[in-house]
Amino acid sequence: MEETFVRLVCPACTKNWQRSPSKLPSHDAPFQCPDCGERRRMAEFARTERDLMTLKRLA
Ligand SMILES: [Zn+2]
Repeated sequence: MEETFVRLVCPACTKNWQRSPSKLPSHDAPFQCPDCGERRRMAEFARTERDLMTLKRLA
């Protein structure tokens, strides 16, 4: 099985990272940046439209 990742970027501190969508909450759930602690909806951390679509499909 091909491993899928969602690429993330923090809107506050611009940290870039990626995670398996199975380890992320759904796109409308709250999420906290592991670096700076910024709290926003999960969807706002998706780097591109494509990452957001992967998140909505699989998280
Ligand atoms: Zn941050």
